[in-house]
Amino acid sequence: MRNEKGSLIRPVPLPASASRPVVTPLSPSVVYASETPDQLDAQYEGHLHGYTYSREGHPNADVVAARLDAMEGQSGGTVTGSGMAAVTAALMGLLSAGDHVIGGNQLYGRSLRLMKEDLPRLGITTSLADPGDVAAIKAAITPQTKMILIEVVSNPTLRVADVKGIADLAKAHGILLAVDNTFTTPRSFRPYDYGADIVIHSLTKLLAGHSDVMLGYVSARDPDLSQKMRVFAVTTGLSASPFDCWLCERGMLSFDLRYDRAQDTAIRLADHLATLKGVKRVIYPGRADHPDAARARELLGAQTCNMVSFELDGGRAAANAFTRAADGLSFAPTLGDVGTTLSHPASSSHRALSVDERAALGLSEGFFRVSVGLEDPDALMAVFTDAVAATRDLA
Ligand code: PLP
Repeated sequence: MRNEKGSLIRPVPLPASASRPVVTPLSPSVVYASETPDQLDAQYEGHLHGYTYSREGHPNADVVAARLDAMEGQSGGTVTGSGMAAVTAALMGLLSAGDHVIGGNQLYGRSLRLMKEDLPRLGITTSLADPGDVAAIKAAITPQTKMILIEVVSNPTLRVADVKGIADLAKAHGILLAVDNTFTTPRSFRPYDYGADIVIHSLTKLLAGHSDVMLGYVSARDPDLSQKMRVFAVTTGLSASPFDCWLCERGMLSFDLRYDRAQDTAIRLADHLATLKGVKRVIYPGRADHPDAARARELLGAQTCNMVSFELDGGRAAANAFTRAADGLSFAPTLGDVGTTLSHPASSSHRALSVDERAALGLSEGFFRVSVGLEDPDALMAVFTDAVAATRDLA
């Protein structure tokens, strides 16, 4: 194989163009060629910006990181290959054997697993406590506590964490506060404005928004911590693929519009579900009957979230009838897609818990979490009306 000059395979020179592309070019190159060893030295020493190897960084990841940094009001964030890679970079990149970390007791399932199984195996001790109760978090602090990890809105019970109270507590004890902002997104909540030290995202969800990308993001207020997490992510291969970053950026361009539309429909859906016979209860932080309504208003304002949970009368039989009748809605364990998705914690995210443990969280067999998408709101309400009606004889 020869290039068009008749010599070796690479490089193929890019065609000259006085104009530039409007869309970020996709850069799938794994390696980047430097001109000389002196130039490479300058790159490694940070005197000259240049990419070397895509696990270490590439333009598409940097473009996504810069957009997220701007949304969160930070700089120096790292894009990772998944949301869990971002959680891992924060916990394992910053903590050492002998340290202790407190996690919210309703963290995302894999984050909980990391806390319960993997960190202890590496000598990092962990405790779980209710992030809605500052006294419970305080009681879990030990002299070794280095970090508290919380989510703003819990999954799937949609309780709102006392982020302000926990941030004050963490600051008073010199403990880092890491906030997973996946559910709320910077459109609803900006953790750095409330005292967080570290912000984590699964970009897989609302920010990329089309269920065709798996990515995460992590940044820290302290540039040294950001750098530590980046180096850990690069060393352990938590890096993001250029194509996923390219798709993610494309999704992010419409994020604000998608989010606003989805959460407007979520409010309507919550109110609509509450009128339907066969629905035992509805959970939505923007409703006046939510136990954390005042805190949701204070922290999230009018932009609450696009997630609605509800409980059907009639247990598993009703749940089966509901998903069968929910025409056009995906029964799939994710959130933030352009289409509305349903998740059933008892058979998916919380299946490893005992019936009693689930009951303690209020997760019966009739419990569903809805990630509201961009469908026509009237059409969506009609689907829910029909699907709930299909469960009535089973209650
Ligand atoms: N954090 C939260 C709150 C999540 O809901 C999820 C996934 O659902 C994750 C982290 C993990 O993200 P990913 O699936 O991109 O690894």
